[in-house]
Amino acid sequence: MTHLADLPAHEIARRIRAGELRATEALDAALERIRAVDGAPGRLDGGRDEQPDKVHAFISVTEERARAQAAAVDARLAAGEDPGPLAGVPYTAKDIFTVKDVLSTAASRILSNFKAPYTATVVERIEAAGAVMLGKVNLDEFTYGSSNESSAYQPSSRNPWDPSRVPGGSSGGSAAAVAAGEGAISLGTDTGGSIRQPASFCGVVGLKPTYGRVSRYGLIAFGSSLDCPGPVARNVRDAALTLNTIAGPDPRDSTAANAPLPDYTVALEDGVKGMRIGLSPDYDKLTFFNHDTGKMESREMPEEISKAVLAAAEALAAQGAEIVEGVPMPHTRYGIPCYTVISRVEAASNLHRYDGVKYGHRSAAKVKDLRELYRRSRAEGLGQEPKLRILMGMYVSAAQYSEQYYRRALQVRSLIRGDFDDAFVAKGAHKLDALLTATTPTTAFGMASMYGDSVLMQFADQLTVTANHAGVPALSLPGGLSAERLPIGIQLIGPDFSEATLLRIGRAYEVATADAAWRTERPAVLAQLK
Ligand code: GLN
Repeated sequence: MTHLADLPAHEIARRIRAGELRATEALDAALERIRAVDGAPGRLDGGRDEQPDKVHAFISVTEERARAQAAAVDARLAAGEDPGPLAGVPYTAKDIFTVKDVLSTAASRILSNFKAPYTATVVERIEAAGAVMLGKVNLDEFTYGSSNESSAYQPSSRNPWDPSRVPGGSSGGSAAAVAAGEGAISLGTDTGGSIRQPASFCGVVGLKPTYGRVSRYGLIAFGSSLDCPGPVARNVRDAALTLNTIAGPDPRDSTAANAPLPDYTVALEDGVKGMRIGLSPDYDKLTFFNHDTGKMESREMPEEISKAVLAAAEALAAQGAEIVEGVPMPHTRYGIPCYTVISRVEAASNLHRYDGVKYGHRSAAKVKDLRELYRRSRAEGLGQEPKLRILMGMYVSAAQYSEQYYRRALQVRSLIRGDFDDAFVAKGAHKLDALLTATTPTTAFGMASMYGDSVLMQFADQLTVTANHAGVPALSLPGGLSAERLPIGIQLIGPDFSEATLLRIGRAYEVATADAAWRTERPAVLAQLK
């Protein structure tokens, strides 16, 4: 029998709303799973190599708050009310979202004492729909990274499929938790790939919505023109249900779009007959930075990843989709260099607010003036990655360099957007409903294998970052297992506000591969459980 912790969110909510299961029971099952697989939560003084066989998804487990929420859901049901579409579903929130009176750290020492005075819109909304927060999960410091290892809270999260490997990042805690049954869904954020890359590494579903589809209010900012909150889930329906609850206009975020909010579950089962799904050779090669020559070089995509994409295309073709090959996306290879400039400028700007005065870590050293207080508080509170990003962001936006770097990067960003416009536009040569690509250039890599090389680490996002530049939505789905039995992710990218279409294609892909042998495999940390 399926353990309650492994049930899909939609099934948990159905049972609870039907009176077959109590929210408190669903919560107990999730807490039991956390005790079985998670190990010590990340802490400021924690050791990197502590309990190397555990998942370590959490920074804080908010059990008391969760118990009160679950009891409230049960009470509402007892009173004959409907607690909502996610009634009693245990979920986790990346510790980059503020939750009133709960520690909201961004995995940084500088916010290690920060209890937020207000709650992020997405958290408020998912909880209004009945979901119960288990706690806050780990991430790369301020979301800067692709492995979780840059968190100031150690041990950082590990990959449930192989705990000697990273879960990806920056929403690594979110993806690891969902893959390990520590909550059915998680809220993550994606600036360059931070929902999709970890989802791909951990074999779960991750959706980066259209920029502005989901409010950023209460999201501790990284790159304000790129950041998108979104769901991580174990299946497409749960991602759609979650998007239903969190998306929509928000008077507290002027960049939240006023576009009408569809029900993302209605057309889920309608299939892909007649849809045009594209493949691009520009997403089937990799660009890497060669440290020795200082040049960008192209490499072949690992064969098993290319094959997974082709297999997905075939599966969708068998369901009636039309596969359009050879779609040119010529600016894809500039995605990372251009992101490295733009995101650093925005990061440096957003990090100015941490000064040790208003909130967060303040240096205890004796200082002679306010400037020294700022300097010391920031030097003590910020880790290496934020410091690097401040330096680079200040450099490329400085008066004498901004023409050469920042302005050019913005121009390249428009060209990347142009590639998507050409691929999707109704009067164009391709008229795609979606582009199908791999999510990541590799499967999950080993802990410590890349950490410290922030340039190489950045290239983990080369297939995801273009959607952030263009503002378009993108969905990552589990697309098979590698020879090493590690998840491979496939990605669907669509035009603005096409989430419903992407989810529908994703669901058709799930149906087409429902009987695939790899679907029966479970993460190693779960296979050990009785
Ligand atoms: N890995 C990317 C970075 O380091 C993306 C992070 C993100 O999407 N938040 O910037």
